[in-house]
Amino acid sequence: MRATEFFAPTLREMPAEAEVVSHQLLLRAGFIRRTAAGVYTHLPLAQRVLKKIKQIIREEMDRQGGQEILMPIIQPAELWQESGRWDVYGPELFRLKDRHERSFALGPTHEEIVTSLVRGEVNSYKQLPLMLYQIQNKYRDERRPRFGLMRGREFIMKDLYSFDRDEEGLHVSYMKMHEAYNRIFQRCGLIFRPVEADSGAIGGSDTHEFMVLADSGEASVLYCRDTKCDYASNVEKAAQAVREPGEKEDLKPIIEKETPGCRTVEEVTRFLGIPPQKIIKTLLYETEKEVVAALVRGDREINEIKLLNTLGCLRLELAGANTVLRVTGAPVGFAGPVGLKNCKIVADPEVVLIANAVTGANKNDSHLLNVNMQRDYHVQTVSDIRMVQAGEPCPRCGSPLLEAKGIEVGQIFKLGDKYSKVLGANYLDENGRSQPIIMGCYGIGVTRTMAAAIEQNHDNDGIIWPAAIAPFDAVIIPVSTKDEAQVNLAGEIYDSLSAAGFDVLLDDRPERAGVKFKDADLIGYPLRLTVGSRTAAEKKVEVRVRKTGEVTVTAFNDLEKRVRELLALI
Ligand code: ATP
Ligand code: MG
Repeated sequence: MRATEFFAPTLREMPAEAEVVSHQLLLRAGFIRRTAAGVYTHLPLAQRVLKKIKQIIREEMDRQGGQEILMPIIQPAELWQESGRWDVYGPELFRLKDRHERSFALGPTHEEIVTSLVRGEVNSYKQLPLMLYQIQNKYRDERRPRFGLMRGREFIMKDLYSFDRDEEGLHVSYMKMHEAYNRIFQRCGLIFRPVEADSGAIGGSDTHEFMVLADSGEASVLYCRDTKCDYASNVEKAAQAVREPGEKEDLKPIIEKETPGCRTVEEVTRFLGIPPQKIIKTLLYETEKEVVAALVRGDREINEIKLLNTLGCLRLELAGANTVLRVTGAPVGFAGPVGLKNCKIVADPEVVLIANAVTGANKNDSHLLNVNMQRDYHVQTVSDIRMVQAGEPCPRCGSPLLEAKGIEVGQIFKLGDKYSKVLGANYLDENGRSQPIIMGCYGIGVTRTMAAAIEQNHDNDGIIWPAAIAPFDAVIIPVSTKDEAQVNLAGEIYDSLSAAGFDVLLDDRPERAGVKFKDADLIGYPLRLTVGSRTAAEKKVEVRVRKTGEVTVTAFNDLEKRVRELLALI
């Protein structure tokens, strides 16, 4: 491809609307243009990158036995009504009507369609296992489409669905996809981690998110410092390590103490001169069933997802001031477990270990000192309900946990019989008994992966593409397009590298070399091959690696080998 014919409109200025680096650079370097909020046109540079990512994904899906299909984007409402999701999916679902007033959705995901396909075609255990996938646009009317391709309303996803006879089969399929995802993101040249994630209130089922590590990531990841231990979890799911009880303290008699205006842990610790580890923080929540008091140590934060899962409820909200007053008899800030009635009490395991704790007295401006579980109050449930922080011991091996920010580029999920039951996707086993097909679903955000690659790999001058997904392997720049020797050598390089199977762009624009160098850095070609007057005379080429800035001069005859070597390293 020659730059004079190539459609890559770069911008000199930083686009004002772009908040994150990948969005800025994708616009500036001429990869995308905005069509509507969260809806983008992909220009040739972006298409080249996406094509390479898709190719890697296809190879790895096929390697594990996946078969590519293409399902419709337009999905009939009836199927969504059958699964029960038409009503619960909410405003994220794009809905439309045809000329006969029949309702449809633009697919945000394809469980309904694929399950209805399989229920019609698979009826015997002999047809299982089966893995079907597609790469296609998805539609989600996100509340806040932002960050360019990171959170779009139209985006490209690879989604695979696995169909097995039982949980064991599902586990095999799940591990195949786990391996495939590891290979995909590795091949894309990205630094990432598969992390344990929360599977929602249904619980029990496995799910992992694949996170590209980048400071701009919206998710927090905790992972073990010990590289031999592969524990990694998103922060909502991270489990606390089991702690042994400390030194035994003698139980002291309970004392009620006036603490005027001290509502927060900070105020109470300052007033009483005690560490926050001695305080039991009591928070009241309302669920669809009951009021719940959740107890955590004063220096900890409640993890509402863990609490929700422990309670097995659908809705969980901090109780309002009126409810707190009604249940505890005191205004917000003075709740404690002693004497608390008409409410369930859930305690974090660390709370059990506090001897002679301080809690609210369920009385305005008062706290209790020397409170001890067993003697002074009872809890219904002891369960991990708090956020884990960096520096705490790994729940698997005890080494300290480190924290990083991550971008979720993929997720794998054991669905079990969730969709096959409601949609009636069954098979007959060897004994002729009807069984629900056991399913898994596995997504990769293709467009988000492209953006995440930039978030992880850029500098002040522009993008630094990992070689495997770069739009071109190299750009060839003749310093002067008026110098015949340079133009000829650049043309020869272009022909020979193209013939050897490399993707190269010849920057034949009649621009100053400085402008071309700037564009090359902005667009982020892994290699820049410069032909100047001196090197041209000797039939030599200056090879510059975008990532390291390393420059070497190579004879034309050795160039192909050199380019191959360098790309393998990037
Ligand atoms: P998120 O939590 O970021 O909203 P999700 O968990 O809802 O994502 P999934 O249903 O797991 O997303 O979809 C699979 C993959 O599709 C995600 O891992 C992500 O890479 C990608 N994806 C999801 N939503 C978007 C979006 N709005 N724009 C771009 N990619 C997306
Ligand atoms: Mg997800």
